[in-house]
Amino acid sequence: MKIALLGGTFDPPHLGHRKLCENFIAMMDFDLILIVPTYIPPHKIREGISSGEDRFTMCSLAFEDVEKVEVSPLEIDRGGKSFSYDTLCALKEQYPGSEMFFLMGTDMFRTFHEWYRYEDVLALCKLCVCRRYEEDDVTNDILSPFSDRFIFCSAEPFEVSSTQIREKVKNGEDVSALLAPKVYDYIKTRKLYSK
Ligand code: ATP
Repeated sequence: MKIALLGGTFDPPHLGHRKLCENFIAMMDFDLILIVPTYIPPHKIREGISSGEDRFTMCSLAFEDVEKVEVSPLEIDRGGKSFSYDTLCALKEQYPGSEMFFLMGTDMFRTFHEWYRYEDVLALCKLCVCRRYEEDDVTNDILSPFSDRFIFCSAEPFEVSSTQIREKVKNGEDVSALLAPKVYDYIKTRKLYSK
């Protein structure tokens, strides 16, 4: 069984996240794609992060029409800092014998060597990396000994970030082209990011 994992804060999940998944779904024959919202992201601590419940619900809405995708409550239920190493170990137990892949954008790839037990993470899964911005560099010299553990995608990037969406909503700008329609409606109904 081939399982892909996409971890993130997803505050909110946007069309860049979907594009990342769709690019690799088109390249690889995954049996399951797990979207795993973090509880507390180890790399990106900031004030005012939306609740786990809101982020989980938005992920479900963002991916509900993508085949083989499930949203996993694993990290939100576990609480504390969400280390991908722990998540991968839990998934290996849940799906013994599976082949695992970790989807990520270039920003995560560039700092991947700072992740908790990154060498063990690389033993557990291959990294599937997409550019976030046209000019993105996809090299990381520290990781070069592990180059057989990466798969790069050459598709055009979808240039958006959750930070950009939060700021636009706060400024009253239109973000409908950057989000799945149901996520857009959810943000409006729940008045997220407007203050
Ligand atoms: P923020 O702006 O709040 O830091 P973000 O847009 O980077 O959020 P995350 O939820 O932190 O979103 O990202 C989860 C994963 O998705 C990361 O591996 C990140 O690199 C990747 N990702 C996010 N946006 C894109 C994008 N536009 N294209 C490709 N990958 C992306």
